[in-house]
Amino acid sequence: MPLPSTYAERNCSLARALEVVGERWTLLIIRDAFFGVRRFGDFATQLGIPRAVLTSRLKSLVREGVLSRDDAGSYQLTERGIALWPAVRALMHWGDESYSPSGAKRALRHDADGGLVDAGNRCQECGALVPVPELRIEPGPGYEPPAEPQDPVSTAMNQPRLLLEPISP
Ligand SMILES: [Zn+2]
Repeated sequence: MPLPSTYAERNCSLARALEVVGERWTLLIIRDAFFGVRRFGDFATQLGIPRAVLTSRLKSLVREGVLSRDDAGSYQLTERGIALWPAVRALMHWGDESYSPSGAKRALRHDADGGLVDAGNRCQECGALVPVPELRIEPGPGYEPPAEPQDPVSTAMNQPRLLLEPISP
């Protein structure tokens, strides 16, 4: 669904980026991919997204070079996809600041030293800018444990884990 091609939009990289990631499900698929979801069925279970919509969004993300799909049907973020991390992180942080009075829903730590990582991706322990594969995500102070047992994918996503580490082998 291309945007109207006005002069202003041709010269706006935000408009171009939103053509790829501006749809709600798409950013949630990308978030799940950072959290280690790789299989169609796992995205479907975790997101509760209609399968036809999921198929279409995954195709579009592969076409745009954000995800790659291997022969076994497993999806992984490409370098271009991983480069979306600061945008995902900034929106998570904005959501926490705006709507989570008890604090971050999820905390990020530098795996090497356990230091908390701030919204700018800097470790509060060692001061390093932490690359995505060295980020550990865990329930934060604003995390509300689910009242009912969850599916295995959601349960795995709510355990402390390294980003990009696959949930199912
Ligand atoms: Zn550190």
